[in-house]
Amino acid sequence: MLNHPITQNDLAAIKTEQVKAYFQDANDLNLAGALVFSLLIYVVYDATPWWTWAPALGFLYLVTLFRANHIRQYRRAPDSRSATQWINGQAASAGLAGVCWGVANTAMLAHLPVPLQLFVLTVSAVVAATATFEGFLLVQPPRLFIIASLVPLTLWLFTVGDRLHFILAVMLSVFIPITLRQITEKHQAFIETLRLRIQNEFLAKELSLQYNLAEQASKSKSRFLAAASHDLRQPLAALMIFMELLGGERQLSPQGEDFLEKAEQATASLRSLLDALLDISKLDAQAIKPNLCSIAIQDLFNELEKEFLPLAEQKGIRLSFAACSSAVESDRTLLGQIMRNLISNALRYTPSGRVLVGCRRHQGMLTIEVHDTGIGIAEDQFANIFDEFYQIDNQERDRQQGLGLGLSIVNRAARLLGHAVTLRSRLGKGSSFAVSVPRALVTISEAKPVLDHSHEIHSLAGRLIAVIENEGAIRIGMQNLLQAWGCRVVSAESVAAMVKQLETHDGVVDMVISDFGLRGSQNGIDAIAALRQRCGIHLPALLFTGDISNETYSAAQNNGLPILYKPAKPEALHAAIAAALGIRKIGNN
Ligand code: ADP
Repeated sequence: MLNHPITQNDLAAIKTEQVKAYFQDANDLNLAGALVFSLLIYVVYDATPWWTWAPALGFLYLVTLFRANHIRQYRRAPDSRSATQWINGQAASAGLAGVCWGVANTAMLAHLPVPLQLFVLTVSAVVAATATFEGFLLVQPPRLFIIASLVPLTLWLFTVGDRLHFILAVMLSVFIPITLRQITEKHQAFIETLRLRIQNEFLAKELSLQYNLAEQASKSKSRFLAAASHDLRQPLAALMIFMELLGGERQLSPQGEDFLEKAEQATASLRSLLDALLDISKLDAQAIKPNLCSIAIQDLFNELEKEFLPLAEQKGIRLSFAACSSAVESDRTLLGQIMRNLISNALRYTPSGRVLVGCRRHQGMLTIEVHDTGIGIAEDQFANIFDEFYQIDNQERDRQQGLGLGLSIVNRAARLLGHAVTLRSRLGKGSSFAVSVPRALVTISEAKPVLDHSHEIHSLAGRLIAVIENEGAIRIGMQNLLQAWGCRVVSAESVAAMVKQLETHDGVVDMVISDFGLRGSQNGIDAIAALRQRCGIHLPALLFTGDISNETYSAAQNNGLPILYKPAKPEALHAAIAAALGIRKIGNN
């Protein structure tokens, strides 16, 4: 907890606040005091000579006028005097008013019968008690008033000599210090409140400062991540393309094939790390806007079953999906991402046994659950496993055991969608993750037919593809890869170079693939626009980039351009080209 030491400035600010609050209603008590004294005189008027009260009454009116004027001056120009000067002015006038009360009352008491004496004493005590209300704002004025008005009375009572007056004198002797102490205590409580307010203001300022710092740090983290990711994506993209080309070579020795497979595994885990980082940074930057629609759970389950069954079979795990007729209101991609991470974890952390995916209705919600009979999670780890790069038992950070990012993606995606994720688990017995999703009112199946790209064969043969790519290695790799798929390729490092090449080329360009970051002032979107101007505005196009920034993503979206991030699996590049060209799977009608 941050603690703010009270400075001289704070003390001055506290004093100014005190004075301000005091002057707000000081005049009410000032005028009421003069009125009450006048009424008191009216009651005792016949019983006491005029000289006992008249001078004091006149003087009290003068003091009251002075005090009212002083208050008016403050309200007009509070900064015309220092806080201490304003306090002194009020303390002096309150003290003088007290003297008027004290002197007049003491002089009158000697002439009054006992009932009127009691009346005067009661009024004086009540007025003194009322003055304590001001005490929590400023101590000096009420303190001086009480001392000046009651001490002379008390002294006189002691001089009378009978029991009644003696007891009254004792009572006042007790009353005066208690009242003065109360004034001090209330005042201290008020000062403490002001001090806390100053402390809170300081904390609020500090908090907003810390918040800004954190926001800046997060922005620079995102920038760093995007830059590092881009710089890693480019060479990795080239590596993947060359490995694909190498795999196509027939004359590899068995050992060479083994090496190639290992290299492919290594690049695959590097790629999945970059993809997971991309997912996280997009979710963090709130670049993803959920697209809510009704999703038939059975369709999602069918899709997931098809995807995970081969892996489960390979590991000897019984993976089953319980039939579910409900539909939910969610974002198809994000919910799919959550489920994929949970199922792949369940399979990864279940050495043998079964994984069951099912759902349960509860009021307006549907809980989609993934149960496994795997290694389980200790309760003290429940919160940690949702942190980035947190893995319970992977100190050696073996990539085969995952990256430690799956559940942090689940957490972020679920937060974005407002879905609660819960976990029940016992070490050694298995785990159950559950996502609570609102049920859709109408059960509309919006399921798209499950596309299994890995088995699709599109023919790109004979297509003329223009590739604009400033990285030499990727450009050469793409040229070879596309040619291996039967395409004809024109490749260049810039639009200008491309245009020059096309002048000497007699074929009709079928598609343009461009990197986003190009040399010079033009980016991939400009390059595509320039080529479309030349070859027709409907020229199919694809942005193939390692730039994962939100700006690039939004720019591509705004221009209606499909975007594929580097490094991509060759199959994904193939599928993206086929999709842009509008080619259907061979055998499809
Ligand atoms: P990872 O890529 O390591 O799976 P996650 O963020 O998905 O990263 O998970 C974090 C950690 O949570 C894992 O390292 C694992 O220890 C634990 N974990 C996640 N799911 C399960 C599960 N179904 N059973 C047991 N442990 C799990």
